[in-house]
Amino acid sequence: MKVPFLDLKAQYDAIAQEVEECMKEVLGRCAFSGGPFVERFEDEFASFCRCKHAVGVGSGTEALWLALLGIGVQAGDEVITSPNSFIATAEAISFCGASPVFVDVEEGSFTMNPALLEGAITPRTRAIIPVHLFGQMADMDGILAVARRYGIAVLEDACQAHGAEYKGRRAGSLGDAGCFSFYPGKNLGAYGEAGCVVTSDSQLADRIRVLRDHGQSRKYYHEVVGINGRMDGLQGAVLSVKLKYLDAWNTARRTHAALYGKLLDEVPLVAAPKEMSYARHVYHVYAVRAGERDSLITALAESGIACGVHYPVPIHLQRCYASLGGSTGSFPVAERCAKEFLSLPMFPELTKEQITYVGGQLVRLSAGRSS
Ligand SMILES: *Cc1c(COP(=O)(O)O)cnc(C)c1O
Repeated sequence: MKVPFLDLKAQYDAIAQEVEECMKEVLGRCAFSGGPFVERFEDEFASFCRCKHAVGVGSGTEALWLALLGIGVQAGDEVITSPNSFIATAEAISFCGASPVFVDVEEGSFTMNPALLEGAITPRTRAIIPVHLFGQMADMDGILAVARRYGIAVLEDACQAHGAEYKGRRAGSLGDAGCFSFYPGKNLGAYGEAGCVVTSDSQLADRIRVLRDHGQSRKYYHEVVGINGRMDGLQGAVLSVKLKYLDAWNTARRTHAALYGKLLDEVPLVAAPKEMSYARHVYHVYAVRAGERDSLITALAESGIACGVHYPVPIHLQRCYASLGGSTGSFPVAERCAKEFLSLPMFPELTKEQITYVGGQLVRLSAGRSS
């Protein structure tokens, strides 16, 4: 049996007619950059996140960058985040001229450890970006308590957490702003590049709207130096169609995760991910921990099962950040994640048979190894 890591085609086939009709509508109205389809999606996504505003931008990276600029982060500032994220979280900080400062993650959620946060704060700290890794939110109460004590802004990197919850509150609605990516492989994916910032702070939303449109609120009168960070009209229309299915898709991911969890109980070789008591996990990635990760990936590939690694090198050990002076041993939990995390196939259209097959292969490989 073949089990792909991700199957965008299966999802497209299920909604093809609706998507093509909405695209025709955009083409017919020539609403290509920003415009009514983007505005409609912004309204829908803001209410999905239970926030007042959503500002559509070009990507998740741009959402993080513009949100940081919107809260006033500039050269010389420090922004605290976790080292086991996609590189974009740190890149956005660097592109404001600020420096990323890392705090290790907690065992269990693998998100920012609030107990270590205070130790990383300096007089230059301007913001904290917890990353809701793999679809599970960070422990926001602990993080927000420290941030409030020091008067520091919190931006959620919710690029992997569309629809995730913390004590019943939606990702993106707890910090000063939440940043989302609609990269095609995300839980809510565009058919191209797109992203969005959500916030209930009207002034912050206005500043980000101005920054994404060349610093203008009136055409050709530029109040601040901005960029072209607008969402494209076709993406806005596609995202409106797909948003209607997001809850059902997330529920399917959770059902798949529960089945994986049951099957993996019998596999001593790997440790299944855990849902924290505060969380509604939306399993953007289903990452297990395995001591012999790399040989397991090869063996699973031989059985037709495609896996991923998120991420093989933590950010503080990436070559591009050598100048920050990060060294092995600084963030032991994140470093162990990089060695042991193995992402199994996870997407809503995955079948029970496919999951059972993956579980069966892991049982077989496990028996082979322990003997
Ligand atoms: C995908 C992702 C981003 C960047 O989003 P793009 O749309 O690819 O720019 C940022 N942070 C995290 C955690 C992500 O997973």
